[in-house]
Amino acid sequence: RSRRLRERQRAAESSAVLYPTEMPIGFREGKGATIEDVDGNRYLDFFAGISVLNVGHANPYVAEAAAEQSHTLPHSLDFPTEPRLDLIEKLESIAPGGLAGASRVVFGGPTGSDAVEGSIKLAKQYTGNRGMVAFYGAFHGETSGAFSLSADGKYKRDYTPLLAEVEHAQYPYPFRQGVPPEEAVDRALDDVQTLLGDRYGAMPNPAGVWVEPIQGEGGVVVPPEGFMSGLRDLCDDYDVPLIVDEIQTGMGRTGEWWASDHFDVTPDAMTVGKGIGNGHPLSATVYREELDTWGPGGHTGTFRGYNVAMRAALRSIEYIEAHDLLDHATELGEYIRGRLRDVDSPLVGEVRGLGLFVGAEFVDRNGRPASDAVSEVRQRCMERGVLAWGGGRDDNVLRLLPPLVMTREQAETGLDIVCDAIEATAD
Ligand code: PMP
Repeated sequence: RSRRLRERQRAAESSAVLYPTEMPIGFREGKGATIEDVDGNRYLDFFAGISVLNVGHANPYVAEAAAEQSHTLPHSLDFPTEPRLDLIEKLESIAPGGLAGASRVVFGGPTGSDAVEGSIKLAKQYTGNRGMVAFYGAFHGETSGAFSLSADGKYKRDYTPLLAEVEHAQYPYPFRQGVPPEEAVDRALDDVQTLLGDRYGAMPNPAGVWVEPIQGEGGVVVPPEGFMSGLRDLCDDYDVPLIVDEIQTGMGRTGEWWASDHFDVTPDAMTVGKGIGNGHPLSATVYREELDTWGPGGHTGTFRGYNVAMRAALRSIEYIEAHDLLDHATELGEYIRGRLRDVDSPLVGEVRGLGLFVGAEFVDRNGRPASDAVSEVRQRCMERGVLAWGGGRDDNVLRLLPPLVMTREQAETGLDIVCDAIEATAD
């Protein structure tokens, strides 16, 4: 049945589909941290739709509210509804640092890219400026503005020029750069300072700095201490908004509500997507009240009135709170990283992450990216019932992003399989 589904997909759907594996798998049903294919095979899900199903597949507490809402009022554009305002107030209450209780929310629409587009307009509108600073290795989405901030040359190549006013700075990545963490931080902050400070240079009028607090698609790159706080200071010095993209890192993924919380940094604006609706499409930008100067009609969009996703989002947040999933993510993430560090294979160059945002970077004997090895490991995992993901600038990072509801027992079973798969893969 899976094979037939794959054949139908290949025959009917766009060639742009990125098939996660050679092995055809078509899914039918998910529950918590497991997912079942159309042939009845069950998998432990270590990828959760790329950090979307944070409270698990078909979470009954979320599903109940979403179903009820779709029977009463699925959509109501920008009219006030309780689901909408309950969610906005809740989001503002859990926002990082000084944003909490002093923020505004603008919904993006269904996708993370929509929220990023909104943040671009917000920053330009507020500052009156046009320049944008982003980072090498960044991914912010594939709509034109978000794509301009993304740094993926491979996928952007056919669509350039996009927005011309974006410059990319180095992101601190000590493992790849082969330098100590402090030096990686200095290099990155120097780059940003050059861009923000040189009004006769590449960026005469910066409107904002966009950053992932941990790069996701870039390969779970956790910046060393000093980077996010240094960036905050630079943005303050030059009076430029700091926009933190928490689309992949937010909603409890890293063991805090937002990765920004780990670094004690308050963004001027924060983009949220993916896990917020636990599979129901929704995104938002949460930003400092002071930036709220665009006025009526300043940013509109049809699907910002999707009450079903708003109910689902509020329920997801409540579920994380009620089940202490932030602490659970912290502990389980430590366990998973420990297991990966103990693997007996020269391929594993570095294991990184925070909470349940985990990456293992694969390198060959010469320290070069080993992307084929990651594909092989993922294939072996799939064959034994574990879904794992890839990532990284050279597709050489194994990414594990299980639902926050994964149990310790499930993680143990899954890691037995992942570790075997790595050890069975030749370096
Ligand atoms: N920002 C980040 C950090 C992301 O990881 C992604 C998606 N991988 C996006 C933005 C874009 O989100 P979407 O695919 O929902 O448009």
